[in-house]
Amino acid sequence: MNNALALALHGGPRAVTAHAPTHHRWGAEERERLSAMVDQRSLFYWQGPQTAALLEEFRQLYALRWCMPCSSGTASLHIAVAALRLPPGSEVITSPVTDMGSVIGILYQQCVPVFADIDPGTYNLDPAAIRRAITPKTRAIMVVHLAGNPSDMEAIMAIAREHDLLVIEDCAQSWGAQFRGTPVGLFGHLACYSLNEFKHISCGDGGIVGTNDERFGPTLTKWGDKHYDRVSGGRNPETLSPNYRISEPQAAVAAAQMRKLPAIISTHIRLGRRLLDRIATLGVSGLLPPTIDPRDTHSFWFCLFRLRQGALRCSRDEFVAALKAEGVACTAGYIPRPVYGYPLFQNHDFFAGHWPLREAGLTSMDYRTVRCPNAEAMLAEGISVAISPALTDEIIDQTADAFAKVARHFAL
Ligand SMILES: *Cc1c(COP(=O)(O)O)cnc(C)c1O
Repeated sequence: MNNALALALHGGPRAVTAHAPTHHRWGAEERERLSAMVDQRSLFYWQGPQTAALLEEFRQLYALRWCMPCSSGTASLHIAVAALRLPPGSEVITSPVTDMGSVIGILYQQCVPVFADIDPGTYNLDPAAIRRAITPKTRAIMVVHLAGNPSDMEAIMAIAREHDLLVIEDCAQSWGAQFRGTPVGLFGHLACYSLNEFKHISCGDGGIVGTNDERFGPTLTKWGDKHYDRVSGGRNPETLSPNYRISEPQAAVAAAQMRKLPAIISTHIRLGRRLLDRIATLGVSGLLPPTIDPRDTHSFWFCLFRLRQGALRCSRDEFVAALKAEGVACTAGYIPRPVYGYPLFQNHDFFAGHWPLREAGLTSMDYRTVRCPNAEAMLAEGISVAISPALTDEIIDQTADAFAKVARHFAL
């Protein structure tokens, strides 16, 4: 065999030889805001200039009238669920392929996450599966726009209208993504975003929840701030809420990041598309790219492929190991198993080994019996490639070459 074709795994030359130039996510813009912040008398979020700047920058991109900047994406999602004021035992349909942050708030609000299966190509909730999951107890749908690929909001909002359901959009992975030209988060009743370390933009940890719905908007701040009323200055909580406040240091960094978001997103999109184009040109057998509607904008937080089982003489994990040896920044799948497969769901261990909701007869949900075959197959076949502004066109091209090289090696 030609030595250049030998896998790096077997001592051959690596396909990815280019080195990324030093890339630093934070710079002068963040430093300027942080420096101004140090001169402030207070670092409290309420009426803080950094928090105000964050909201102003955010609203340039997302026309949401009421917003609560908060401590994490998980916090934003919990605030959103709480703001719906669903009675205990209410069912919220969501995706089994997501971060724990999507379901934590549902469980804390004594509601029941109901997992509907995903579309095998987009990896987002399949509208037909949502329909099948609806019961008399369904009150809401939590849509997850996975990896930067927008969900089918037209179909989902039609279902919601038909069944009188509320919709929360989990946009944590989909900064900059657009469905039919409109940014994700502007379709449902509430939109949630994450600013954690690993997302398109970051302030270490942070989140934002927003809405244009006057039923929920005016209460959003209270739901993330002990139900204190900052507007009137009153402390007279009508109900139970955690403290999920952001603070000025986070907001300072987040505001600077938000201003850079359009440029960051366009880099992600350019690199993601380039990778898909190159792989399509090379024709990697057995490798399925994500389905992206040409009318939509995938913002490529990462790029998730599937390697069809049996298409090559290797398993998905062997393929990924070979890719890694070639120098590709990739991982097998996304999460190790669907969310319902995690021990806390399998054991219904939500509150000290108990699930009071079930013990009180308010739900008969048994997560041990849940199966979402598309989600399970996708996670078993998935290969995710990290996309980030730290990469170059050359690295992307060599990444595509690595896929082709490894697939050729393991061809049937
Ligand atoms: C990251 C993420 C969250 C949680 O965000 P945190 O800021 O880490 O709490 C929620 N949902 C999805 C889909 C995510 O990717």
